[in-house]
Amino acid sequence: GPLVRISALEKIYATRDKGNVHALHDIRLDVADGEFITIVGPSGCGKSTLLKILAGILDKSAGQVEIAGRAVEGPNRDLGVVFQAPVLLPWRSVIENVMVPAIVQKSDLGAARQRAQRLLTMVGLDGFEDKYPRELSGGMQQRVGICRALVQDPAFLLMDEPFGALDAMTRETMNMELLRLWKSLGATILLVTHSIPEAVFLADRVVVMSPRPGRIAEVIEVDLPRP
Ligand code: ADP
Ligand code: ADP
Repeated sequence: GPLVRISALEKIYATRDKGNVHALHDIRLDVADGEFITIVGPSGCGKSTLLKILAGILDKSAGQVEIAGRAVEGPNRDLGVVFQAPVLLPWRSVIENVMVPAIVQKSDLGAARQRAQRLLTMVGLDGFEDKYPRELSGGMQQRVGICRALVQDPAFLLMDEPFGALDAMTRETMNMELLRLWKSLGATILLVTHSIPEAVFLADRVVVMSPRPGRIAEVIEVDLPRP
């Protein structure tokens, strides 16, 4: 079966001021192992809500979400998450920051260090292991965030506007690098963006959402050669 299966997913926020806000309606989506999916849509269409439910940090109102055949019931290590602004620990070195999930989850630290080193090399941060986040540019900090999300070898990588805070040039470079990383790791990625060109550039399939209530308007298969 698919790596990720979302069926008949609904989200309704109960608010004091605006009553019930229907944020997601009848979301159905399967993600195959190794696929790169992007989600695009205007502000308020439910992209962040969908990601939070997938990440297990927000309860759904109805429907099913399964990753690797298991229902999502809270944060889990099958999954790595990258947010717009990488929240790095300022008093920890680059490699320690990458190892944080392994430390928290009490994994084998020797193996985690090796994997962290390998990931840092893959994103061009060889030699920066012992630097501190403040010594790195925004793009480099986000690379550290990506390595951290991948250090536990998750089955599935979720990215919420990962390069949204970066300038246009850096953003292009990061997208190229992300494709390289995806290929060499054989990763499965779901990335949210509000840039249609970026969504098409990166994806095997682009999920286009529309608001009120947030739902999938169409799914576009991208059949373009990648760099
Ligand atoms: P984005 O559109 O990029 O997700 P927002 O500014 O809409 O950012 O939302 C910022 C945060 O506030 C998010 O965590 C979102 O879940 C939350 N939020 C958005 N709309 C509301 C709302 N009407 N009431 C309460 N929280 C909200
Ligand atoms: P997007 O990420 O596409 O901008 P969101 O998932 O942030 O969309 O929001 C989808 C809808 O749900 C919006 O109408 C937003 O105002 C509402 N919403 C988001 N978070 C909350 C929240 N915590 N409480 C109430 N409403 C929210």
